[in-house]
Parts: sequence; structure tokens; C-alpha cells
Amino acid sequence: MAILNKYMQLNGLKKYFRALTVVLSALILTGCGFGNAAPGDDGFTKEIFAMDTYMSLTAYGDMAEEAVRKAADKINELDRMLSTGNEKSEVSVLNSEGVSRFSEDVMNILEKSLEISHMTDGAFNPAIYPVMELWGFTSGSYRVPSEEDIKSSLANINIDGIGVSGSEVTAADGMKLDFGGIAKGYASSAIMEIFSRCGVTSGIVSLGGNVQVLGTKPDGSLWRTAVRHPENDGYIGVVNVKDKAVITSGGYERFFEKNGTRYHHIIDPSTGAPARSGLLSVSIVSADGALADGLSTALFIMGEDRAVSFWRKHSGLFDFIIMTDDGRILATEGIEDAFESEHDYEIVR
Ligand code: ADP
Ligand code: MG
Repeated sequence: MAILNKYMQLNGLKKYFRALTVVLSALILTGCGFGNAAPGDDGFTKEIFAMDTYMSLTAYGDMAEEAVRKAADKINELDRMLSTGNEKSEVSVLNSEGVSRFSEDVMNILEKSLEISHMTDGAFNPAIYPVMELWGFTSGSYRVPSEEDIKSSLANINIDGIGVSGSEVTAADGMKLDFGGIAKGYASSAIMEIFSRCGVTSGIVSLGGNVQVLGTKPDGSLWRTAVRHPENDGYIGVVNVKDKAVITSGGYERFFEKNGTRYHHIIDPSTGAPARSGLLSVSIVSADGALADGLSTALFIMGEDRAVSFWRKHSGLFDFIIMTDDGRILATEGIEDAFESEHDYEIVR
């Protein structure tokens, strides 16, 4: 448990420990790196802080170390290009100048974001940033804005105001983009590609609790990825997977409280306020990390009924596990055999 000891000495913030718990539990549940793998078979792991969160990257086999180092470089590069906190990032330049040149990855993320936005009837909206700013989520100076202010910020989130010509991207006056709802999923998929290109066939990454796995565990068994319970330190359950991302959105991740009401960081673009859809958490299981991330945000906003009909329409693309605010757990048919839980749950068909 060397990793645990190292972290304990750092005596970090609550959020830090929460993120760490998820990373560690993913590791413990997968059984990697904690003794039961044969010597030389316990993989190479690197922990980094990027995209505002703690990340753990693990690969197995001869090329593990090189693959993990390349993956870490990629994450840092993506972070530099995407960060709204870095005024030189490609996204920040667009937000301040109204025009920017996007490199291939950022363009991919933009295109994927627009695709998910269309698919979800606008529940996912990469132009939601002005509303995030209004509520203080971007600065930490939280406030509950007036209806009037919400209305005027909603005038700036129409994605039709985004123009693409070659690598040049433009945004209408007042628009600002933010890929926080998809970046980690895009990044974990990009890591899987790097691992594969390096010849790695087995690996697992956790980017702030969002997990993606390559292949199976080195012993050929499935990876056991835990889904955190939104209301306590336990778990909703475990999904046994290979070659999949398991990505969760929940109102418990980032929020503030005012007069006894909790306001979280997932904004419903149809109201300009934190989504109140009756869901506590949405986990998406998919081979496509960016899609999983975007949909976790979108389905959280949609709520149970819309999420279920959306899945029925796109069931080949993903599965979900959702928890409602009356404590029910729903999992879709595609992961019926993969999902395990000590709680009661219903299968959506
Ligand atoms: P987390 O950031 O905890 O991983 P999510 O994947 O749900 O959780 O992403 C939430 C982030 O997505 C917010 O911090 C914000 O940057 C962005 N966001 C908020 N509302 C939306 C929305 N309706 N569409 C797209 N992105 C959003
Ligand atoms: Mg998301």
C-alpha cells in the first residue's frame, strides 16, 4: 500500500481524498499492483494532476512505462490546449477573441461535442460557459443569479453561433466554449489509443474517478470498475468490463449551498440553472470515452424518462447505471450480466 502511504503524508483536501478513494478502489477492485500479480506483472502506474483532477494511469507488459509516460504527456498537452483557466489555450483564445485555430484534438472534441449536442436535443451544450460564469462556477465566487441575468446569458449559448472553416473556429459575440463535460472522456479514449500503439494490451486509467480500460486484466479476467454511491462513501455497484469507459456525472461532484438549497455544476441549458431532473448520478458504459462523458452529463440533465427513451433509441452505443433521488438504481439490459450490486436494482429493457 505504498501509494496510500504516500498520499496520507500529503494530507490533502477532502476532494483530493475522494478522488483518491475512487482511484484506489478501482485499483483494489481490479486487484492490480497490490501483491497478487506475479512479480514483473504488476504494471507501471503514474499519478498526475491535470484537468483539475487527480488521475492514475496504469499499463501492463514490457512497454508499460513508455506507454504511460506518453499518455501523461498527452494529457498535459490536452490540458494546455483546453483549459479555460489558461488564457493562452486554444479555447481561451476563442473565448476572448471570438476566433482561434484549433489543433486536431481540440477540433475532434468540438465536433464530438456538437454531435452529442444534436443527439441530445441540446441537453449537452459546449457553449454553456457564460451560464457557468454567471453562477460563479468558473471563479468560485458562487451566487444565485436573477432570472433576468439568466435570460440574458442564455442568449449566448446557441451552438449555431460556432463557425468552422478548416482549422479556424469562430464564435458569435458573447459566446464562450467549455469542454469540461467531455474532455476527460476524450482524454481517456486517447490514452487507450496511445497504449495500443505502444503495444500495450492491458491497461486502466482513472481520470478523477472516470475509468476507461484497455483489454482485460493481465490474467485475462474482466476489470471490475466500481460506481460510487452519490450519497455515501460506498458503491452503487461494480461493472465488469473490457475495452470500455465507465464515466459518471453527479450533482455531488461540485456544488455550493445557499439558504439550504444545493446548486451543482451541471447546467440545464433549457433553464440556465443546475439540472433538477430527479437523478443523483448517471454512469455511462461505452467503448467511446468522449461519448460516455458527454452522455453522462446529458442524461443527468434529461432525467429518468428521457434517459430511458434516449437509450432505447441508441442502445447499441452505450449502457447506463442511474440512481434516482428516491433511491432507485436502474441499469440497462446491455450490462445485465456485467453489473453487480448489493442494492436492489431494476433492468431497463
Ligand atoms: P465532472 O466535471 O464532474 O466530470 P461532468 O462530466 O458532468 O462532470 O461535467 C461537468 C462539467 O461540464 C461542468 O463543470 C461544465 O464545465 C460542463 N457543463 C455543465 N453543464 C453542461 C451542459 N449542459 N453541457 C455540456 N457541458 C456542461
Ligand atoms: Mg460528462
